[in-house]
Order: sequence, then structure tokens, then C-alpha cells
Amino acid sequence: MIIKILTLFPEMIKGPLNLSIIRNAQDKGLLDIEYINIRDFAENKHKKVDDYPYGGGAGMVMTPQPIFDSYDEAVKKLKVTKKPRTIYCSPKGKVFCQELALELAKEEELIFICGHYEGIDQRIIDSLVTDEISIGDYVLTGGELPVAVIIDAISRLIPGVLGQNESFQEESFYSGLLEYPHFTRPQSFRGLDVPSVLLSGNHKAIEGWRKSKSLEITFKRRPDLLEKANLTEEDKRIIDDFKKHS
Ligand code: SAM
Repeated sequence: MIIKILTLFPEMIKGPLNLSIIRNAQDKGLLDIEYINIRDFAENKHKKVDDYPYGGGAGMVMTPQPIFDSYDEAVKKLKVTKKPRTIYCSPKGKVFCQELALELAKEEELIFICGHYEGIDQRIIDSLVTDEISIGDYVLTGGELPVAVIIDAISRLIPGVLGQNESFQEESFYSGLLEYPHFTRPQSFRGLDVPSVLLSGNHKAIEGWRKSKSLEITFKRRPDLLEKANLTEEDKRIIDDFKKHS
């Protein structure tokens, strides 16, 4: 996947994307990330990229010219002829989720625009942006951290990025449920024991225990997810049991 990030602060985003699994994905050639500094495209003498909002009010707004020009530069380097999926991170956007991550992971090329100050001129959004995405109901100082979060979430869904021993199919949200708890060695630590079923070697019993825990955690923490999850009759029976005992 080719990713172009339009940002005023490349260093703010390079850190998290240049380590661990996302670094390896770039080294393996599965991910090609380019950081385009919006300020480099400002045509005015002082390289100013923001201005006062029309109509008054607090704060500054990022101006159209440097962003349109840095976008043109990003598009020039892309292979596809169709308008590239262009994401602007904003608290006003659709809230990011695993389903959207899976959808974006299928794209060959993506452009991200990082906002700052009060945000970007609406004409940029109307003309260039295909997806306005929020990472949650709170306000950050800039779009770099949300973009890093989104790129991290989608990169690990690209085939080949996770190793054979790592899998996203069993993780939280993939099946519509939260994941079951994990335990590792030692078997007993400070008097705390690993559930015996996990030591039994009985794969069917282990699978049943994990499914039941997954349903229990989802029922207790995110009952809203159960409404959309693909539940079997047995799952529904287990949930009814939780309801009776809660
Ligand atoms: N004035 C904007 C508002 O009230 O919606 C907030 C602007 S915020 C201070 C500056 C930039 O941070 C935004 O343009 C956006 O790119 C990014 N940002 C802040 N919070 C975000 C969130 N929850 N999700 C995604 N991006 C966010």
C-alpha cells in the first residue's frame, strides 16, 4: 500500500510509524509511506499556512493553497487514475472502527491530511476529501496522532504484515465481539493460577471457554456490540444465562 501524508509536523508522526511491525512492513515493501510537508508548498514569503477565520472567532484556519498544492504533488506520484481515497482526520468525522480499518486496508493508495489549529478551510474538504474520520469524541491538537492510529490499525490488516503466529481474525471486533483473556507462563504467579481448562490440552473445551469469556466480556463492557454480532443459538443461550445472573 502506498500512503502519502500531508502534514505540518512530519516528526510527530514518523516516530510511531517507524518502529516495530509497521517499520517491518515498510522494510518488506508492503507499505510505502511518504511524508509531505505542507509548509514547503506555501507560496508566500513567510511560509505561512494559516489565516484568520472569515466571520471572526477564535483560532486560525489552515489555508487552501499549500494543501491543494501538496495534494497535487502527492497525486502526481500515485499510480491509479481514479480520485484517490483521501482522509481528513477531524472530530466531526465518522468514528473510526475495525470495519472501516478493514475497508481501508483493501485500498492500494491512500492520502491523509493532518489538520491543525481550528482545522482546514472547508473548500479543501469539499474538493479533495473522500472520508472525514474521527478517532473518538475528544479534541486533539492536530491530525498527526489520529493519522498514526489509523495507519497502524489498517497496516496490520494488509496480508503479510503480521507474522504467521499473529492473527487478527481472533482479535477484538473482528468477529463482532471483544477478545477472551490471555495467560502465559508461569502457570502460577504469586498465588494466581492460570484457569485449568487452558492446561487441559482439550482443544474443544478451550475453544468453548474462550468463546464464553468473549461473550461475557462483551456483555459486561460493550453490550451494544452484541446487537450487531453474528451469534449462534448457543451464544444466545449463554448470554441469556449472563442476563439471569447479572
Ligand atoms: N475546531 C475543531 C473542532 O472543534 O472540530 C478542532 C480542531 S483540532 C484542535 C485540530 C486538528 O486536530 C483537526 O483539524 C484534526 O485534524 C485533528 N483532530 C483533533 N481531534 C481529533 C479527533 N478526535 N479525531 C480525528 N482528528 C482530530
